[in-house]
Amino acid sequence: MRYSAFQIAKQALGLGNGWQPVWREPDPKPAYDIVIIGGGGHGLATAYYLAKNHGLTNVAVLEKGYIGSGNIGRNTTMVRANYYLPGNSEFYSHSLKLWESMESELNYNVMHSQRGLINLFHSDGQRDAMARRGNAMRNQGDDAELLTKSQLRRMIPYLDYDQTRFPIHGGLLHRRGGTARHDAVAWGYARGADRRGVDLIQNCEVTGIDIEDGRVTGVQTTRGAIRAGKVAMIAAGRSGRVAELAGMRLPIESHVLQAYVTEGLKPAINHVISYGMGHFYICQSDKGGLVFGGDLDFYPSYAQRGNLPGVEQVMEAGMTLMPMIGRAKVLRQWGGVMDMSPDGSPIIDRTDVDGLYVNCGWNYGGFKAVPASGWATAHLMATGSPHETAARFRLNRFRDGVGVMDEEGKGAQHNLH
Ligand SMILES: Cc1cc2nc3c(=O)[nH]c(=O)nc-3n(C[C@H](O)[C@H](O)[C@H](O)COP(=O)(O)OP(=O)(O)OC[C@H]3O[C@@H](n4cnc5c(N)ncnc54)[C@H](O)[C@@H]3O)c2cc1C
Repeated sequence: MRYSAFQIAKQALGLGNGWQPVWREPDPKPAYDIVIIGGGGHGLATAYYLAKNHGLTNVAVLEKGYIGSGNIGRNTTMVRANYYLPGNSEFYSHSLKLWESMESELNYNVMHSQRGLINLFHSDGQRDAMARRGNAMRNQGDDAELLTKSQLRRMIPYLDYDQTRFPIHGGLLHRRGGTARHDAVAWGYARGADRRGVDLIQNCEVTGIDIEDGRVTGVQTTRGAIRAGKVAMIAAGRSGRVAELAGMRLPIESHVLQAYVTEGLKPAINHVISYGMGHFYICQSDKGGLVFGGDLDFYPSYAQRGNLPGVEQVMEAGMTLMPMIGRAKVLRQWGGVMDMSPDGSPIIDRTDVDGLYVNCGWNYGGFKAVPASGWATAHLMATGSPHETAARFRLNRFRDGVGVMDEEGKGAQHNLH
C-alpha cells in the first residue's frame, strides 16, 4: 500500500479498516543468502539497500527484541553533516543527501526537519577550531556559517550570554542540520525492505555464529539454526558480544548515553543547539517536549538505563546555558548502549572470516549515519569492495594505527572522546 493524502481520505471513509500491517511477520527460513544480525537503523538500512540497489532479496534481518527497541528508537534525533576529517566528511555529507530524499524514497514520513544546528564557541581558540571545521564543511560541499555573538543574540535570545565563566562568543550555524523522528526511520526502512522481499524476524536472538574452514556458514538463534552465505554483525552497543560469538575481540567499548524529554511546551527552541563548554545539546520535538542530552556515563555497561551523576551533569550544563530550562518539568529519561570506537569513527569492513562482515563504532552519532551506512554496507557485501564514501572505515586501523580518524582530537584512546 502506498501512503498518500488520497490514501488517508480513502481509509477515513472506510473507518480505517483497510490499513495493512506495515511489514510481515514471517517465520525464519532454513537458509538465506545473507543474514543481518541486528534490526536497528543500520541493519534495516543495509537490508533495504541490498534489495533496492543490488537486487539481493533472499535476506533476513534477525532482531533479538522488536524493531526499534535499540538505539535507533532511543537517540536525541539530531541529523547533521559537520564532520571535519577526510574519511568522515564525505561519508556524512553523502548521508545528509540521502536524508534529504528519504521521505520520498521510502514513501514514509520520517519528519525530517532541517531547522539548523548551532555549535556555540566560548573562546578565541574555539572560534578558530569552528572556523576550521566550517571551512572543511564548505570544502566538502556542505553549508556552514560563522555567527558573531550579536547575530546569535538575535536568533536565540534566551541563552545566558552574560555568564562570566564561559561567555558565549558566537556559533557555527549548519542550516541543513536538524532532526528527524527516530523510530519512524526504523519503520520506514523496515517497510521498504519488507516490501522488496526481505524477511524481518523479530524476537530472534543470535546465540552462535557457525564457521567452517575459515568461512561463515550460518547462525544459531533462539528460533533455530539458519544457514547463510554471508552474515553481517550490525549490533551497535552489543557488537562486542556478537563478535565474541565468532571468536573475535572488537576494538569497541560499550557505554551508556542518556537522553531526557520535558513536558510539551509552546514553540521555544527553533534550532538544535550544542553547548561548547559542557556536553549538552538540545532541540524541541514537534510535540513540544524539549529533548536534550549530554555526555556518556563514564564506565562500560550493557544496561539500557543511566546513572544519577550523569543526570546531574546534564541538568547543570543546561541551567548554565539557558536558565529558562529550569522551569520545565522533565517527563522521561532513558539510556542506550553506545558502541564506542577508540578514535570516535566507525567501522564498516569485512573480517578475517570469509563472508563475515562488521558494521559498528557509531559512538553517539550513528543516527545521522543510518542511510549512508546502510548504503555502504550493502555495497561492500554485494560487490566485495568498500563504497568510496566509507573506504577508510577499516577494522585494521586499530591493529596497525594507520588510518586512524581521531575526529575529536583527543587521541585514539577509549574514554577520551
Ligand atoms: C541517548 C542517545 C542519544 C543519541 N543521539 C544521537 C543523535 O542525536 N544523533 C545521532 O546521529 N546519533 C545519536 N545517537 C546514536 C545512535 O542512536 C546510534 O549510533 C545508532 O542508532 C546505532 O545504530 P543502530 O540504529 O543500528 O542501533 P540499534 O538500534 O541499537 O540496533 C542494534 C540492534 O541489534 C540487536 N541485537 C543485539 N544483539 C543481537 C543478537 N545477538 N541477535 C539479534 N539482534 C541483536 C539489538 O536488539 C538492536 O535492536 C544517540 C544514542 C543514544 C542512546
